[in-house]
Amino acid sequence: MTNQIRPQPGIMDIALYEGGAAHVAGVSDAIKLSSNENPFGPSDKAREAYARAVHKLHRYPSTDHAALRRAIGEIHGLDPAQIICGVGSDEIIGLLCNAYAGRGDEVLFTEHGFLMYRIYAQAAGATPVSVAERDRTTDVDALLAACSKRTKLVFIANPNNPTGTMIGLPEIRRLADGLPPQAILVLDGAYAEYVEGYDGGAKLATERGNVFMTRTFSKIYGLGGLRIGWGYGPKPIVDVLNRVRGPFNLSTSQLETAEAAVRDQEHVQRCREENARMRAWLAEALAEHGVPSDTSTANFILARFADEAEAQACDAYLQSQGLIVRRVAGYGLPQCLRITVGDEASCRRVAHAVGQFKGQTR
Ligand SMILES: *Cc1c(COP(=O)(O)O)cnc(C)c1O
Repeated sequence: MTNQIRPQPGIMDIALYEGGAAHVAGVSDAIKLSSNENPFGPSDKAREAYARAVHKLHRYPSTDHAALRRAIGEIHGLDPAQIICGVGSDEIIGLLCNAYAGRGDEVLFTEHGFLMYRIYAQAAGATPVSVAERDRTTDVDALLAACSKRTKLVFIANPNNPTGTMIGLPEIRRLADGLPPQAILVLDGAYAEYVEGYDGGAKLATERGNVFMTRTFSKIYGLGGLRIGWGYGPKPIVDVLNRVRGPFNLSTSQLETAEAAVRDQEHVQRCREENARMRAWLAEALAEHGVPSDTSTANFILARFADEAEAQACDAYLQSQGLIVRRVAGYGLPQCLRITVGDEASCRRVAHAVGQFKGQTR
C-alpha cells in the first residue's frame, strides 16, 4: 500500500529555522553573541515575579491576559483592548499569516528580512515574496511596486534584523498609504526599545486601519527564554487574531513575569543606554580593524567583510577564541557576520579577536 498521507501544499518547502549557535566544541566558557540577547538579562523585578508564580502552577492562566495588557497599555499609552499577547512575537506573526493569508495570496517582506515571515507565510499556504532592499535598507518604492491585488500582508522589521538599519516614520507612512486596500502593514518592533524616542509605529497603528505593530520581551527585556510577545493595532484585526489564538497560549509564569518586566522601565532605559554606548564603541573598533558596518539602531552590528570566504574565516577564528557570532548567509548576506552587542568585556574580546584575525590576513 502506498502512503497517501500528505501535509498541506507549501509545508515541505519550509526550510527549518536555525537559531544562533550556543556552543563551540571544546570550549566551555564561550561567549554567545549570536541571538541578540540582552547580556544583562531581565529586570530583578521580573525574576522575582517568575519565582512567585511557582505558587500558582496548579491554576489555569488567564485567557484574556487582561493584567498584562493593562500594564502594557499603561506604559505605552495604548488601549489594552487593541493589544494581543502571544508566545513571542513569533506567534503573533503566525496568527497574522494564518488569519489573513492563504492559497493564492502573497506575503511581502524585505530581502534581508526576518526568516519567520517566509516560514509562516508558507505554513499558511500563501506565497512568500522577497522584495529588494536598497543598501541593506527597506526600500518603500520597491515594496509598493511589488504589491498587487493578491498582497495580504507586508512585513517590515524596523529596526531591521540582521541589517540593523531603519527607516523613518514619513517613509513608513508613505508605505501604509500606498498599500492596496486589502493589505495589512505589519511593523515588527522587536528592536524598537533600542531606539530612544521611537514608539515602534504605535501611533501609526492607532491612526490607520491597515497598520499593525508587533513587539517582544525577548530582546531588551532579556526574556527570550520565556517566550512572550505582543501585538497592537486596529480592533477588527485584534478581534480576528483572538479567534485563532489558543485560549491558554501564555502560562501564568509568562504573564506575570512580563507584567513585572514592562513595569520596570528603568531597567529598559539602563539597557538601552549601555547598548548605545557599547554599540558605538564596537562599531568604531571594528572599523579601525578595517571591518565596516552600517549605522546600527539595534543591539547588534552587521560587520561586513571583503567576501564570503573572509567572513567564514573570521567566524572560524572567532569560534576558536570562544566567541560565537551569527553567519547570515541565509539572510542573503554571505559576506557579513552579525555580532550582538554584549557587555563591555564581550565587546572588547570580540573586537580584539577581529583585530587579530585581520592582522593575520594582511
Ligand atoms: C528576535 C526577533 C523577533 C522576536 O521574536 P520572539 O518570538 O518575540 O522571540 C521578532 N522579529 C525580529 C525581526 C527579531 O529579530
